[in-house]
Amino acid sequence: MGQIKAVRGTRDLLPPETELWNHIEATARRVFARYAFGEIRTPIFEDTQLFARGVGEETDIVSKEMYTWEDRARAQSEKAQMLTLRPENTAGVVRAYIEHKLGDAGLLQKLYYIGPQFRRERPQKGRYRQFYQIGAEVIGPPSAGSESPLRDAEILEMLATLLEALSITGWTLELNSVGSATDRPRYIQALREALVDLAPTLCVDCQRRAVTNPLRVLDCKVPEDQAKIDELPKIADFLDEDSRAHFAQVCAALDACGVAYTVSPRLVRGLDYYTRTTFEFTHGGLGAQNALLGGGRYDGLSEAIGGPKAPGIGFAMGTDRLVLTLQAQQVALGESSAALLADAYIAPLGEAQQAESLVLARELRRAGLRVELGDGTFRLKKSFEMGNKLARRIVLFGEQEAVSGMVTVKDFQTGEQTKVPRGELAKMLGAQ
Ligand code: AMP
Repeated sequence: MGQIKAVRGTRDLLPPETELWNHIEATARRVFARYAFGEIRTPIFEDTQLFARGVGEETDIVSKEMYTWEDRARAQSEKAQMLTLRPENTAGVVRAYIEHKLGDAGLLQKLYYIGPQFRRERPQKGRYRQFYQIGAEVIGPPSAGSESPLRDAEILEMLATLLEALSITGWTLELNSVGSATDRPRYIQALREALVDLAPTLCVDCQRRAVTNPLRVLDCKVPEDQAKIDELPKIADFLDEDSRAHFAQVCAALDACGVAYTVSPRLVRGLDYYTRTTFEFTHGGLGAQNALLGGGRYDGLSEAIGGPKAPGIGFAMGTDRLVLTLQAQQVALGESSAALLADAYIAPLGEAQQAESLVLARELRRAGLRVELGDGTFRLKKSFEMGNKLARRIVLFGEQEAVSGMVTVKDFQTGEQTKVPRGELAKMLGAQ
């Protein structure tokens, strides 16, 4: 029978690498808590319409990358529902905000999430079909200050702090404003006009995008197209007074707290819901998939999916890419590393000692020690070999030890062997 493997674009995360994942997630939780964010967990699958209306029908994500299926109808009269594995989490968070009337208290909601997302993309280094995001959203009624440029700057400053807490260095913050819902149509019209002549000279993808979604032409990565695309009209020239002033205030607040950024006129991002501020943090060490995280403002998203006016701003960072970056930087995790040896390996010296050796292991683990438990059918030689690979010390637990109440401990590093009363073992092994 053929071997069954993980599906293309998905992978198993194994120890010790999972220690790094836990470290990243724990650091994010700690930083988010300091900025008074609370955790939200939304379902892994949602009504397909949420993404069609929220993210946008014309986006790559919705038009070709979603895992969508028809749910079985419960009754014949019932229409089968179309469901989709979430390709991103912002739409789900905003749906929950609307569904639970979270804006009714008149306060800002500051929510973060950590979890898997799914997109049928062409897998490569740093790009998977099941990938993981850590993200946060600030959303609320305008009366709570949800449109304030201070919110944008605060989020960006939080991200700089989080990357610093993770010891990730060498990142670049690219910033832009894509304008309000009224600026964008004027810009898109100008793009369309400029593309009439230019598009036939660009790559086939751009030729298609020029018709379906001209903004996406700005994302083109084909080297020969770059100089020509740089000549296209710039969104900055189409911003109205409000958008311009908003962006200037975001920049001023970032300058005030020393968060470095570059303004990238072509940064329009792949999701249709963005308005005004958009941003991306990139990292040179990542290769082709160099975006560590991306985000922006989405002042009209709530209304697009049937909710009240609830402007918001958020970001999603790719945990997979944070892991790759940290691995490349070889950041030492110190004590929390799973590669760390156990404090002790307990070797029951016969089958009669098996049950009691589990009791001993339980005592030590309850005292806070990291303990590996052997097997009573092993010979002494094998126990020593195994113990040496897994732990700093071996605790021999045979018939004699069971009767005398003394156990024999050998330290693999010093070679020293001692007999210790069982009651003092935990302390001797370093329990606090
Ligand atoms: P997006 O939701 O497209 O704005 O992406 C936000 C971040 O998620 C990106 O900057 C990446 O770090 C990460 N990301 C997006 N798609 C993938 C993927 N297929 N595999 C791994 N990470 C991804």
